[in-house]
Amino acid sequence: MIDTHCHLDFPHFDEDRDEVLARAVEAGVVAIVNPGTDLESSRRAVALTEKYDNVYAAVGVHPHDASTLNRRVLEELRELASHPKVVAIGEIGLDYYRDLSPRAQQRAAFDAQLALAADLGRPVIVHQRESADDVMAALRGWATEGHPGCVLHAFSGDEALANEAVSLGFFIGVGGPLTFSQRGRRLPEVVAGLPLSCLVVETDAPYLTPHPYRGKRNEPAYVVLVAERLAELRDLSLDELSEKLTGNTRRLFRLPGIG
Ligand SMILES: [Zn+2]
Repeated sequence: MIDTHCHLDFPHFDEDRDEVLARAVEAGVVAIVNPGTDLESSRRAVALTEKYDNVYAAVGVHPHDASTLNRRVLEELRELASHPKVVAIGEIGLDYYRDLSPRAQQRAAFDAQLALAADLGRPVIVHQRESADDVMAALRGWATEGHPGCVLHAFSGDEALANEAVSLGFFIGVGGPLTFSQRGRRLPEVVAGLPLSCLVVETDAPYLTPHPYRGKRNEPAYVVLVAERLAELRDLSLDELSEKLTGNTRRLFRLPGIG
């Protein structure tokens, strides 16, 4: 399977990146997409694609760092995006939970990077937290006349949000929180009700570590734990599900024939 969202470039992996990747391969992970969170991280992600065959990159500025996006940064993102292993613009979006950049700047950075993605014909990897209304307002406008693809990563929304995203032709990125058992959590129910063709899996490593490793650093091998939970919810074998998810990911990011 493919980990569609892993921050392999983060310093959390500086000590043992080779071992982390070896464990991922061992677990059956055939490819990893490393999204950038700012210009520096995007550069590092692209560099990792040159070092490791099974790593692909996305380039973009995260809403937390939205205040760092200016014309020069946008131009460099455009240049980086021409690299053959850059498959998307991301991660981009709005985060009203932590509000690490002013909201007006977050919206401006999101719009500018959505426009860049449309211009380059590249899909987007979208982060949203307590900002669903504004994210969907921006994406609705962006998607009106066809769009190059979109995934709502680390999805944690409700049915209404999921259904609108699916009706716009977006993918839903499912991560570690699917494996948490918590009273009142509706995520498993929401995910179980969606068309299989719109789902992809991810770790968001080093964050959002799935059960039973919650509290420890996450790593791409653990995407299998998310897929196992999803297979259980969908009443499919892990092999059947993996084949589907890999096909979905290949469609989303237009990856060459891997898997
Ligand atoms: Zn992320």
